[in-house]
Amino acid sequence: MGRVLAWQLQQQGFQVILYDQASTDGEAAAAFVAAGMLAPYAELESAESDVFQLGLRSLELWPQIIHSLKAQHLFHAGGTLVVAHPQDQAYLQRFQQQLQYHQIAPEHSPLLSKQQLAATNSGLAERFDMALSLPTESWIYARELLGVLQQGLLDQGVQWHHNCAVAKVNNGQIISAAGVHHFDWAIDCRGLGAQAQIPQLRGVRGEVIEVHAPEVDIKQMVRLMHPHYRLYLVPRDNHHYLLGATQIETDDQSNISVRSALELLSALYSLHPGFAEARIVRTATGCRPALPDHLPSVVTDNQLIRINGLFRHGFLLAPALAEAALAQIQGH
Ligand SMILES: Cc1cc2nc3c(=O)[nH]c(=O)nc-3n(C[C@H](O)[C@H](O)[C@H](O)COP(=O)(O)OP(=O)(O)OC[C@H]3O[C@@H](n4cnc5c(N)ncnc54)[C@H](O)[C@@H]3O)c2cc1C
Repeated sequence: MGRVLAWQLQQQGFQVILYDQASTDGEAAAAFVAAGMLAPYAELESAESDVFQLGLRSLELWPQIIHSLKAQHLFHAGGTLVVAHPQDQAYLQRFQQQLQYHQIAPEHSPLLSKQQLAATNSGLAERFDMALSLPTESWIYARELLGVLQQGLLDQGVQWHHNCAVAKVNNGQIISAAGVHHFDWAIDCRGLGAQAQIPQLRGVRGEVIEVHAPEVDIKQMVRLMHPHYRLYLVPRDNHHYLLGATQIETDDQSNISVRSALELLSALYSLHPGFAEARIVRTATGCRPALPDHLPSVVTDNQLIRINGLFRHGFLLAPALAEAALAQIQGH
């Protein structure tokens, strides 16, 4: 959130100074673990309408941001396929009903027959009788984009204080061990690091696995509807796939558990026979900053803005929330 907002502010001519408790690679951020899905329709399965509306706005804004960063290679507009095994069709039907409830036009969520699925994804058609297509969804290579944002900000002369833990963000003030720093505006985008000042904030653990599967050629994001093992798959370059994600009520960021790995990999293997010989390349764990209502919050108080509670949707929501924060600052 902080990097996207800093970039947008800088582009509008504001002088931006960043404080981050992490080192230059920023590994402590949940954003470094994210799958980078920009999937407002698929998220309607569990998210509120507000997330959907903000997500649609972000889908409009991301291409401009990506263009300004010259990072088109990190943005993919392949859409999503939502599938369920024949015995779990009721879950797919329920999701269809949810889309209807939200008045999603049929052209944004066509149902593909087995034959239509086979025409583009023969492996998936071996296991699934139909798929719901969400053709306007996109994804971003999240980790790489964070690096591009950092480099872009540094190239533009933004001051970036690394390894600098901020204890408090108050009205026009950033307070660190080095003292109190005064600014026209202070913006708190510390995610879970803001817990001391936002006590209702909690961490929700998520684990992801990256695999290399030369026998699989899937070019869309895939969501598996399942009674126990919900899975999504995000394609990366050269037959690599990111699969995720667990959602566990804890702020423990230690390595992936055996149970989570078994569940994610079993669900993966049930998607496509070619995953049997896939190689596990990487696992990662992060904690999503969540508020009790699972909605994002942008709170302005004089020269202070706090943006938090991005939960499962930091990449999906960041451009729209940055736009809202910018409007507050410009309208002041
Ligand atoms: C497994 C997993 C998968 C996900 N997949 C997706 C996805 O596909 N699509 C999507 O949209 N979202 C996804 N998310 C959610 C997304 O990662 C988060 O919503 C997002 O990272 C939250 O952004 P943030 O900037 O608020 O917090 P973070 O990303 O956690 O960033 C917080 C920043 O504040 C800094 N900081 C913290 N404390 C301090 C302090 N005291 N002083 C100074 N700096 C501090 C940190 O170093 C970091 O740079 C996923 C998350 C997880 C865990």
